[in-house]
Amino acid sequence: MDGTLKLLDIVRIAGEIKLETGMTIGGIETFGIGGIDKQVVKEPLKENCPYIPGSTLKGKMRSLVELADGKVKLSDGKPHSCTNPACGVCAVFGCARAEDNKDAHRGPTRLIVHDAPLDVEAPEAKQFFQSTGRWVDLKTENTINRVTGTAEHPRTFERVPAGMSFKFAMSYRVFEMPDKDGNPDKGAFDLKNLGFIKLGLQLVANDYIGSSGSRGYGRISLHKVTVRATMGMVKLPETSWSFTPVETAPTP
Ligand SMILES: [Zn+2]
Repeated sequence: MDGTLKLLDIVRIAGEIKLETGMTIGGIETFGIGGIDKQVVKEPLKENCPYIPGSTLKGKMRSLVELADGKVKLSDGKPHSCTNPACGVCAVFGCARAEDNKDAHRGPTRLIVHDAPLDVEAPEAKQFFQSTGRWVDLKTENTINRVTGTAEHPRTFERVPAGMSFKFAMSYRVFEMPDKDGNPDKGAFDLKNLGFIKLGLQLVANDYIGSSGSRGYGRISLHKVTVRATMGMVKLPETSWSFTPVETAPTP
């Protein structure tokens, strides 16, 4: 189907990502004796403050939404990409193959995820920096020799400590598109697909962010998430989103 595309509004989604466990998002890897083997990504012009790259957050949301929406083929596990004009995942997160998006006539990728800076004003971060002069802590991990039971090959990782928070923000573009009868949809397609963003955030909170999630890193919780139509041209069903935290073991 062809037709025109009209930008109706830009929805701003913003909030706080709090680390429930230490997080490591791969920066530079160095090999050598002594020193740090793996560093986290940092802002070189902002006191080497760690941040969560927008691409990491978006990629994680996307991969989990694809899995939840049954879009991943067991045979190859590749990122989903299709030419179905009604595919919400491709509209929100973009297509892995640019030509698919063009063929589907669904317009540009709707979601832009900005880099999320560390909240340096939060008491936890301030306190940690004052006592250590750093925004990250260091953790050494080993492998256990199965015969002797001794620890071998120690490697030192940087990680952002549990308790620190990041301020995240996303922009979501709402377009007026022709509906199946060719009439203007008043943004209905994009407003419906806003649900994929909420789902993606909830799934990240249920899963982890960064690397080594299966070893306990990168568990997060989401707070103070607001959703606002910046141009006031569309009416949103909700102005804030709340997310269920992953339950920890109850206190006996
Ligand atoms: Zn698709």
